[in-house]
Amino acid sequence: MTLIFSGNDYKYELEGVMKLFIPASLFTHIYSDRVDTDDDYVFAREKIFGNYTLLYVIGSVNGKKAHKTHIVKQSDSGLDADKELIMSRLLYTVMHKLTGKGSQWGVITGIRPVKRVNAMLSDCFDKKQIFSILKEKYLCSDEKCELSYLTALTHKPAIDALNEKTFSLYVSIPFCPTRCSYCSFVSQSVESSMKQIPEYLNKLCEEIRYTGELARRIGLKLDTVYFGGGTPTTLTAPQLERLMNVIAESFDTSTVREYTIEAGRPDTITEDKLSVIKENGCNRISINPQTLNNSVLEAIGRRHTAEQFYESFSLARKIGFDTINTDIIAGLPTDTFDSFKYTIDELINLSPENITVHTLSIKRSARINQSGDRSVLDNPAAKMVEYANSRLLAAGYRPYYLYRQKNMLDNLENIGWAKKGCESLYNIYIMEEIQTILAMGAGGSTKLVDLSGHRLSRVFNYKFPLEYNKHFELMLNKKNEIEDFYAEKER
Ligand code: SF4
Repeated sequence: MTLIFSGNDYKYELEGVMKLFIPASLFTHIYSDRVDTDDDYVFAREKIFGNYTLLYVIGSVNGKKAHKTHIVKQSDSGLDADKELIMSRLLYTVMHKLTGKGSQWGVITGIRPVKRVNAMLSDCFDKKQIFSILKEKYLCSDEKCELSYLTALTHKPAIDALNEKTFSLYVSIPFCPTRCSYCSFVSQSVESSMKQIPEYLNKLCEEIRYTGELARRIGLKLDTVYFGGGTPTTLTAPQLERLMNVIAESFDTSTVREYTIEAGRPDTITEDKLSVIKENGCNRISINPQTLNNSVLEAIGRRHTAEQFYESFSLARKIGFDTINTDIIAGLPTDTFDSFKYTIDELINLSPENITVHTLSIKRSARINQSGDRSVLDNPAAKMVEYANSRLLAAGYRPYYLYRQKNMLDNLENIGWAKKGCESLYNIYIMEEIQTILAMGAGGSTKLVDLSGHRLSRVFNYKFPLEYNKHFELMLNKKNEIEDFYAEKER
């Protein structure tokens, strides 16, 4: 498939739309005013005639041709003058005609579709106006309009309550007892990376102390803490206690509103670990079954059972956790609609405060992708997600954050659902990019946010524990960029 651009350079945006229809690996790009190829192609042209700009897209797939044109007047403004968006729409319409495929999100290809709705709510648009823009300008389906609108309304109070002088702390524990087949995250063999834990923890404690000093100098107040991974509960109870103590010594935790630890895999959860994290201030945990079907768990190499999930969940309740999140995944290999339905129904009966419904995303480095087994793409993920959405809504849960990843089945999304008042602040703030997140540990990505100055900047830590341990001093020096960012804000 050859993509030909003439009079424009909307490569990134148009490629995003093309990926909804055809795998990116098949694209060739050309800048030319004419079509000169025997390949399948799309030709996206922008041409100015006096006070008008003509936009048109012609496509040819398997000998079938289609085209679509739009004229922008010089007097047009806002989305009516957004040529990149209009070109995306033309391309979508042409490719839809040629392939019969489509996406319920229309031409919204980014990972944060709700941001657009937030912006419209801030501009005091009403529901009718928002839906009309989502449908007409972005070609969104009614269902996705409802979903994104409801998500924006649910998380609005948390956004409104945000104090700009605060930050969240992310602590990365990139270790897991074994590797799940759909995971692209832990790239080293689990056994060898586990040997690095003692040194990793020493360095991590040092980084936490260093960051504590830095936050104090800048005058930032700690708002939420999030331990993610990996699986943080791969660590022992004393290791978890040590980390939490170092955080308490390094930061003023009296202002913390939410403290989450991803316990993640039930096979890592024990009573002593849960007790330690509860006693040290954690008030939200995640226990993630992914599915309650043991044969699917086995197929994805998760090495725990549904029974272990139930045991961990009731243990967490016994110890006093009153905000528990449970993650599940729609579209897992070998899962069926009925088994997914059972998982959702059972979880709703269990009544956790948060249920996060992910859709399988097949990343290149995941084992199931490397195996070449394409049957995984052939499953009822869309039907599963539709069922989950309607059941969760009926059970009183509301969507409060939503994001998309590359290569998700059926171009779907991940949705965090919460009972009223139990929405995770950290998830909302990270998704909306409205609060600074100081990240620690391998794979951590610090995000610096200056809302009033409209600035966003990132500082990356080394990705893997081995490099993190080895180049630690170098990485610590890079953290000075955080102070530079805030110094600039004061100027
Ligand atoms: S628990 Fe999560 S991070 Fe760990 S291997 Fe499985 S999918 Fe990957």
